[in-house]
Order: sequence, then C-alpha cells, then structure tokens
Amino acid sequence: MKEEVRNRRSSSDDSGYLPNTFSLEDAFSIERELERGVWRLRFSPPVEEAFINYYLNRYMWRIRLGILFGIMLYAVFGLLDLVVSPEHKKIMWTIRYGVVCPSGLLFLLSTYRIRKEWLIHTLHALVIVIAGMGVIAMIAFLPPDKDFLHQSGLMIITFYAYTLSALRFRYALFASLTLVLLHLVGDLFFLHKAVNRMVADMFFLSSANLIGIPVSYLWEYQSRRDFLLTVLLTMEKKRVEKLNEKLREMSYMDSLTGVANRRKFEEYLEAEWERAKRAGRPISLLLIDIDFFKKYNDIMGHPKGDKCLREVAQAISANLRKGIDLVARYGGEEFVVVLPETDLSQAKKIAERIREAVMDLKIPHPGSDVYDRVTVSVGVASLIPREGMRKEQLIKMADEALYIAKKRGRNRVGTFTERSVA
Ligand code: GH3
Ligand code: MG
Ligand code: MG
Repeated sequence: MKEEVRNRRSSSDDSGYLPNTFSLEDAFSIERELERGVWRLRFSPPVEEAFINYYLNRYMWRIRLGILFGIMLYAVFGLLDLVVSPEHKKIMWTIRYGVVCPSGLLFLLSTYRIRKEWLIHTLHALVIVIAGMGVIAMIAFLPPDKDFLHQSGLMIITFYAYTLSALRFRYALFASLTLVLLHLVGDLFFLHKAVNRMVADMFFLSSANLIGIPVSYLWEYQSRRDFLLTVLLTMEKKRVEKLNEKLREMSYMDSLTGVANRRKFEEYLEAEWERAKRAGRPISLLLIDIDFFKKYNDIMGHPKGDKCLREVAQAISANLRKGIDLVARYGGEEFVVVLPETDLSQAKKIAERIREAVMDLKIPHPGSDVYDRVTVSVGVASLIPREGMRKEQLIKMADEALYIAKKRGRNRVGTFTERSVA
C-alpha cells in the first residue's frame, strides 16, 4: 500500500516541503542514498526528483530575495559609473538599467510562473552571465586608464553566483566558469589589455571561483543531507503514529475473543450514556452469560472452552449493527452489549436473536442441564437516562435481569425495567 507522507507544514519541521507523492516504501532507497553518500550531488531518479521539488519549495524565497538584492546592488553601482567616468554615463547606464536590471527583474517575475526547477536555475544562471557580460562590456567602453575600475564587479558577480543566489552547485559553477571564459575571450580578442593586466585579472577571478566553489558545493551537500534526514524523520514519525494507533486498538481489545475489552466498554457506555441523556433517547444493555460453562470446561478442557468463547463472541457480533452497537467481554464467560438508540422491546428482540444464534452454533455441551448444546442466558435492561442517574444503574439492572434468566431455568432472556420485572 502506498502510504502518503502528509504534507503538513509546521514551524518545527520541514516535512511540509516534501512532495505529496512520497511514499513510505521509499524509506529503503533513502537509507541507501545516505549510505552511498551525497557527495556526488545526485540521487537516483525518483529521489532526485523529490529532492528537486523540496529544494525549490524550501528555497524559493532565498532565490527571490537573492535576485532582488543582486539587482539592487547592480543598480547602486550606477553611482560608481558617475564617479569613474561621467562622460560614459549614457552607455554604462544603458547596459546597467536598460539590459541587466530588467533581465534580473524579468527573471524575478518568472519565478512566480515557472514551476520547473531546472528552468528557474538555468534562467538564473543566464541572468548572472548577462550581468557579467554587462560588466565586461562596460570595461570595453571605458578608456584604458579607467577600465580596471570595474574589474572587481566580475568577482562580486562570481560570489553572488556561488552564495546569495542559492543556485545549485552545477548551475553556479556553469555560470561562473562561463564568465571566466567570456572574460578570457574578451581580454584576448577585444579588450587588448597588457599581458600582466590579463594575468592579474585571471588571478583574481580564479581565486573568487576557488573560494566560491567549496561554499556552493557544501551548501548543496548540506541541503541534500537535510532533505534525506527530513524524509527519514517524517517516515519515522508516520511509522510511530501507525504503531501508536495499533497499540491503542490493542489496548481496547480482548485478546482471546477479538471483541472489545472491558475498558472499551466502560468508555463506550459512558459516551453513549451521556449522548442518550442529552437527547432524551433510550439506551439498552445486554449481559450475556454462557450456561454451565464451568462444567463445559471441566468436561471438554480449557482449550475447547476458549474456542467456544470465541465462537460465542462471533455469534453475538454477527447480530449487531456495525459501528453502533458494541459487544465487549465483560469477564470470564460473560459478554456485555451496548445498544444505543434502542428501547426495551427492540433490545429484547436482539437478545432473543443472539440466544438463538448461540444455539445455532450447535456446540455440543454434555454437562448442560438445559440442553445438549452450549446456550446463553441474557439479561436485558433499558432506560432513558435522566439527570442524576448513573450508568451503573443500567448495568445493575442488566445484572438483575440476567440473574432472573438464570433463576428461571437458563437459555432464556430476562428483562428488568425500572418499574417491573418481566
Ligand atoms: P452459570 O450457568 O450459572 O453461568 O454457571 P457457569 O458454570 O457458567 O458459571 P461459573 O461462574 O460457575 O463458571 C464460569 C466458568 O467460566 C469458570 C471458568 O472455568 C470459565 N472461564 C472463565 N474464563 C475463561 C476463559 O478465559 N477460558 C475458558 N476456557 N474458561 C473460562
Ligand atoms: Mg458467569
Ligand atoms: Mg455462566
């Protein structure tokens, strides 16, 4: 069965970022991924897909905030253009405010529409390359005595790609190395710089990459580990919840017969009693006791006695409304049935039906004084609870009714109402 991991978001865990379709069966592959290590920054296909969705959901705000901050920084550098070379302001600002900033803004807007992770990262990387090309173009337009002043811009863009952008490693690496290449091509073929300047530029840009690469790699490495641990934690939580559910069910069950136990009976009767009291509706109770069961055990043996108990429990269950009536093992060979919304005459009919059903089981009982098969006596009690009444009163009435049934010869239904003994 494919059990879905709940998509719940809470302040204390990240499970809300997991895709809805992640199944518990995937726990095995998650553990395998953890063992194999995340250093390759690639999981096997289904897990990779889940991670990518998680990453996008979890870090979308970082991507947006990053690009917004990047655009602002790029825009502020327009002041530097003025300081460096006011006469080139027009061309510099055209590049800055006419090309680079709008592409950044366009990308920012596109993140609200595009849901494909690879596309978002690719576009982000493209914007970074455009920003770098903008800087290279500005350097090209500036006179040789001033062109080095914008050089550091490329380093800032490189750092942005590896850190603030929240780009996954491969995209950050791609964008940054493209910039190095473009810069090299620019230097060699268009900018005609002195060789020592070119070497210095490359030194600085390569260093920026060498610093950025481990930072970006570790960022994705950690994100992947976080993801795997979050999935495992969510699955573990789910498993514990299921286990708790099972334990709760077991704590309400009689292990021999499989029907409810006394604790469940107490709680159910309490709830139904209160409901009947509020609604002014009748509630009935049956106490069912196997006749001469001690003798049955003595003659047939205890294991047969246990089997008989199970069969009687099943016969009772089969004659009740599922989800409304409740049968519980009250003690030894006694069962109790709660019948909500049932008056005395209906309860008597049900009791009679149960008595016949037990006889129909045709379990031989050589020790019985009343019949050659296993039989039961049933005590029926019914009332409409009033203020001040206690549910124990109903139990006592059913007990008295059972006593009457026993006294009158067993294998019969006895009733006890508030006013009369029938
Ligand atoms: P009565 O017709 O008056 O009800 O007589 P009884 O023999 O059925 O009643 P009594 O209370 O004297 O004996 C109940 C017997 O039920 C005693 C015990 O041997 C048997 N019993 C109680 N619990 C279990 C059980 O879990 N398994 C089995 N096999 N027998 C049980
Ligand atoms: Mg008994
Ligand atoms: Mg008995």
